Amino acid sequence: MQRASAQDVLAIRGGRPIRPTFLPFHRPSIDESDERGLTETLRSGWLTTGAKTKAFEKTLAAYVGAAHCIGLNSCTAALHLALDAVGVSAGDEVITTPMTFAATANVICHRGARPVFVDVEADTQNIDATLIEAAITPRTRAILPVDFAGQPADMDAVNAIAAKHGLPVIEDAAHSIGAEYKGVRVGSIADLTAFSFYATKNITSGEGGALTTNNDDWAERIQMMSLHGISRDAWKRYTDAGYRHWDIIYPGYKYNMFDLQASLLLTQFKRIEMFWARRRSITARLSAGLAEVPEIATLAERPFVTHAYHLFPIVIETEQLRADRDTIMSALQAENIGIGVHYRAVHLHPYYRSLGFERGMFPRAEHYSDRTLSLPFFPGMSDADVDDVVAGVKKVIAYYRR
Ligand SMILES: *Cc1c(COP(=O)(O)O)cnc(C)c1O
Repeated sequence: MQRASAQDVLAIRGGRPIRPTFLPFHRPSIDESDERGLTETLRSGWLTTGAKTKAFEKTLAAYVGAAHCIGLNSCTAALHLALDAVGVSAGDEVITTPMTFAATANVICHRGARPVFVDVEADTQNIDATLIEAAITPRTRAILPVDFAGQPADMDAVNAIAAKHGLPVIEDAAHSIGAEYKGVRVGSIADLTAFSFYATKNITSGEGGALTTNNDDWAERIQMMSLHGISRDAWKRYTDAGYRHWDIIYPGYKYNMFDLQASLLLTQFKRIEMFWARRRSITARLSAGLAEVPEIATLAERPFVTHAYHLFPIVIETEQLRADRDTIMSALQAENIGIGVHYRAVHLHPYYRSLGFERGMFPRAEHYSDRTLSLPFFPGMSDADVDDVVAGVKKVIAYYRR
């Protein structure tokens, strides 16, 4: 490991990068069991929704302790169908957080409804439950918290407010598969929980998603709406059970998970605890390495959660530096350290500004939005990679220190 000091010339200014090869922000963990499973599925003669999808749904439902799991082609689809199932429609309002990915807010708009943002807790970037009640109006139809970076939102508080007002809670658990809140696993805490298996998520099929719920009626509706709104189990229509006519009950969507996705998820799922353990140890090593950098803060971890450790975001207190976040980001990239941004607050994007949102409305999310970047973080990183990240951050921060 190179010793970083203020004298080191930044790579962005012609110096030698902290490492010779580029460390990506994320690299999925794919092994031979994934390849064997995929090959088996490819050779089975059944590629679309079938036995593997059903097996994965059963596996995930059992893992999270939910009565139902519906495999889908994305978390975006899952969130969209969850809003449909609870009856969110034109003119309604859904309460959510501005510190999330585009999908969370966009799906509310897909229903013709209006997102009502509530500011976040400064130290976790999860929705501040103490601000939710003031945002409830007669048009509110659902509450949509996000488990930011893998840490469950304050679900007891969210659920209590929802129960008081008779509102369903839809949890965006794209970051938090495997996480627990007060001993209860994410997937059976909210009324509906949406998971993502996008390429960067904790287990992945490249693209993919799922919904879990204990509500039989919603599960049935979601199953139907995920495949054209045609009658139940329509995916069986070409099996040896004999051809069966199907009926269109509603104009549904094309959101079903298919067996190649499910195959990858089944083999990935077998390593979920191993991935988690590695994510936790990388988190500890990064946190220890960066603890001595006063200009950098990390998010708090609540004592009553089991964190899913999806991301390692940092907050750069740029007031103490001669550079803004984007400059730091470019400098790190030049040092061969890949980075991501999770996220620039949703309400500051052009479309949401066009709905009337503006800077100043959600100061904690905005402070974070302007200063955050996410460091490389995936189970396949070596300890030497982690040390390079720490050294790279120290080198860049030292250079721009006032
Ligand atoms: C990734 C992500 C989504 C969308 O997931 P897809 O599976 O890509 O549709 C939704 N919400 C959050 C918070 C995410 O990070």
